[in-house]
Amino acid sequence: MSSYDPCVLLKHGEIFLKGHNRHRFTERLHDNLRVALRGIGGSTWIKTAQNVTVLGGQVPQEDLVERARTVIGFNSVEPAVRVPSTLEEITGAAVEALRAVSAERPGRGFAVRVKRRDKDFPLTSSRVAGHVGARVLEEVTDLHVDLSRPDIVLAIEIDRKETYLSWTRYPGLSGLPVGSSGRALVLLSGGYDSPVAAHRIMRRGLACDFVHFSGVPYTNPASVYKAYALARELNRHQPHGRLHVVALGKAQKQLAVAGAGRLQVVAQRRLMVRTASELAARTGAQALVTGDSLGQVASQTLANMAAVDEAAALPILRPLIGWEKQEIIDEARRIGTAEISVLPDEDCCQLLAPPRATTRAALPRLRAVEKRLDLDEVTQALLDNIQVLVPGSDTEANAGALTREATACRNHSA
Ligand code: ATP
Ligand code: MG
Repeated sequence: MSSYDPCVLLKHGEIFLKGHNRHRFTERLHDNLRVALRGIGGSTWIKTAQNVTVLGGQVPQEDLVERARTVIGFNSVEPAVRVPSTLEEITGAAVEALRAVSAERPGRGFAVRVKRRDKDFPLTSSRVAGHVGARVLEEVTDLHVDLSRPDIVLAIEIDRKETYLSWTRYPGLSGLPVGSSGRALVLLSGGYDSPVAAHRIMRRGLACDFVHFSGVPYTNPASVYKAYALARELNRHQPHGRLHVVALGKAQKQLAVAGAGRLQVVAQRRLMVRTASELAARTGAQALVTGDSLGQVASQTLANMAAVDEAAALPILRPLIGWEKQEIIDEARRIGTAEISVLPDEDCCQLLAPPRATTRAALPRLRAVEKRLDLDEVTQALLDNIQVLVPGSDTEANAGALTREATACRNHSA
């Protein structure tokens, strides 16, 4: 590693398209970055140049990079060194950096790319690039210049007082800073789709809380553990959202007893969004989010989704509506939720699912079934027994609640 001052360059994503209220987005981005840096084990600092955030501190550069890569809103994350803006310092740092890089693997081609944010700097960008390139060639003999397809790109960004040199670029999560678009409540099952939907919607700037419906007491709590693990994974990218766990089993039975038959799945889904709408009022959510993709299964036909929408008091966002299953699974692998989603569970939707679910639930028939129960009372009972967890903050309250869940289930099956 270089003897120069290490830092990390974070290139802004879509917020650089924002006009007069860009500073609001930048502030939110920096708040989220500060949250991601909590507990890193040393002091850190943040500085903004145009479209770039510079991050440094009394902690290893790798740790800063790792934390910054979890934050939504940066197009790239680049470990860098910071030097005073003089040609001598810049050249010295460039030689030292590329010497270290070429020692790892000699014989590679390099290019120097210079950006001058300070137009008062005495040399033009191409003169700086020429000067630095020539000195590197003199001093690091096992590198050659390759401007068309370089193995190593040394980026030099010259600011008024300070200049940044970087030669490694990790892709960031891009998107809008979480929270800049408002708040949502994600219906999180244990499957592949809903966590991917949550990740997508977070990248559009929505801070997410989660609600999971389990079939408890008629299923084991495996799906609750999965939802917890998924929410914890998603919470790496935002100030921790809460997970609300609702035991739906008894209400599912009530719907079945009321004669839902082939409408059972859609009727359950309506009960879920009804309950979630009430919950949203408590969490401050302005929309619900699901992992539906058009036509994927019987419950996701246009008619059935319309029947579900009709029961919701808030707009339902479905970011995956046009995605294919394979695309969703590939994305789940990329964002790290696939290995949790693949684990076996007893999904509440399998409980009491009719052999042939309807693809066209008619509203009058749904309403007739719902009329046979006191919906307000059912919803209220669900809300009264909700468990609230904060995945990612591994508190005793979380552990206690999960143990109670397991015990309730064991007692029931005993
Ligand atoms: P997923 O992979 O997200 O489970 P899926 O392909 O299994 O989706 P469905 O079971 O039809 O599809 O569910 C559609 C959407 O409804 C889910 O993406 C999720 O948002 C919501 N949902 C379904 N079951 C539950 C549940 N038990 N708890 C919370 N939300 C649920
Ligand atoms: Mg599912």
